[in-house]
Amino acid sequence: MLDATRALALVQRHVTSKAEARMTYDVAIAGLGGIGSAIAAQCAARGASVIAVEQFGPAHDLGSSHGKCRMIRKAYFEDAAYVPLVLRSYELWRALERETGEQLLRTTGVLSVGEEGSDIISGTKRAAAEHDLPMQAWSRERVRECYPTLMLLENEVALFEPDGGVLNPEGAVRAHLKAAQTAGAELRFETTMQSWEANDHAVQLHLADGTRLSAKALVLSLGPWFKETLEALGVSLRVQRNVQAWFSPSTNLYAADRFPAFLLGRAGLPAPLYGFPDFGDGLKVAFHGLGQITTADAIDREVDIARDVTPIAQVLEAWMPGAATTFREATPCMYSLTPDGNFVIDRHPAHSNVVLCGGFSGHGFKFAPVIGEIAADLALDGGSRHRIDFLSLERFRGPQGPNG
Ligand SMILES: Cc1cc2nc3c(=O)[nH]c(=O)nc-3n(C[C@H](O)[C@H](O)[C@H](O)COP(=O)(O)OP(=O)(O)OC[C@H]3O[C@@H](n4cnc5c(N)ncnc54)[C@H](O)[C@@H]3O)c2cc1C
Repeated sequence: MLDATRALALVQRHVTSKAEARMTYDVAIAGLGGIGSAIAAQCAARGASVIAVEQFGPAHDLGSSHGKCRMIRKAYFEDAAYVPLVLRSYELWRALERETGEQLLRTTGVLSVGEEGSDIISGTKRAAAEHDLPMQAWSRERVRECYPTLMLLENEVALFEPDGGVLNPEGAVRAHLKAAQTAGAELRFETTMQSWEANDHAVQLHLADGTRLSAKALVLSLGPWFKETLEALGVSLRVQRNVQAWFSPSTNLYAADRFPAFLLGRAGLPAPLYGFPDFGDGLKVAFHGLGQITTADAIDREVDIARDVTPIAQVLEAWMPGAATTFREATPCMYSLTPDGNFVIDRHPAHSNVVLCGGFSGHGFKFAPVIGEIAADLALDGGSRHRIDFLSLERFRGPQGPNG
């Protein structure tokens, strides 16, 4: 029996052969990961003719958008300017679920723990207050009542966000691809964009198989393969190898019907620890932003248990006793870190018909559909309805910028 991924790839090949006749499109998209798949769906939904190329297969596990779980939360401690974007994302995730019939977002709540003045706690409170978001400051007794096994340290406080939840990244990529295709987008997998050139009216794409394509606009959503392009534009992009690990707990207290996603900003840890409840295939846990700096082509894809998994298991077990009882699996994934941790969503400074969506710095997945909407605005309408000035390239210019 064909699995869904292979079936989709075969359909793509069929569509591709029909597409050879047509070589000019409204929008071309390079990269169909978490972000590019959403861009393809949003552009196609507006009736634009769309061609999108991806160097690997659909919903692959070689970039930044794999690993079964991604956290979504509204009270954005990183910067409250993201809140309107994430609120729109919630609406669009739900719309995608209705359109495709797939469950993509499960509301589990998110429990954030740290010291009162820590970035996570103070930033979460600030964003919740500024945007009047549901947020509960829990006493230690309340934490003990709800999750009796959790080990809070003396000076730690807890915030519970009831609307927080968990996205299924592979399911979301597939759902966006399906929506894009249903709306008429042509999707080419195992197809690498080698280079592009633009003038005022059109963008030419040169594919590795020798094909040339022409489009009125190009959107680049290259994930960690964006490094050279962004660096040429003055944005220093660091690609970081981040290992995500799964464990079977020895208690059912961490099951998804009774336990939330969590973020632990404990003083003394090498990085915050975050994780997800057990949906039946173990708890997924990782450090947020800890790992070797590498490149998309050179990343070490082998997992070394002592180096990659043991540190996660030790911190997890001290915080959630019984959670790390049996190691199940682990896989590396890549963060694309900008100097200030904020995304780059902008037009190319020399080519207004080329849109750049990258540098998602390890927190972009939850925004995929709204970034799709913004990219479609920029590629098709010339401007976005969303406030995205804080994500512009402009901030990296000059010695005072975050690169400086
Ligand atoms: C371990 C881990 C945990 C994370 N947790 C969260 C979380 O809880 N919540 C959250 O919101 N975010 C999270 N993130 C971040 C989020 O997953 C990423 O920001 C997001 O998936 C980035 O998507 P992308 O499309 O930019 O990159 P990718 O998914 O890597 O997609 C880029 C695509 O471009 C393709 N490509 C590149 N170059 C070419 C070319 N020349 N021609 C054709 N195709 C090309 C690649 O093959 C790839 O498919 C996490 C990331 C990691 C690694």
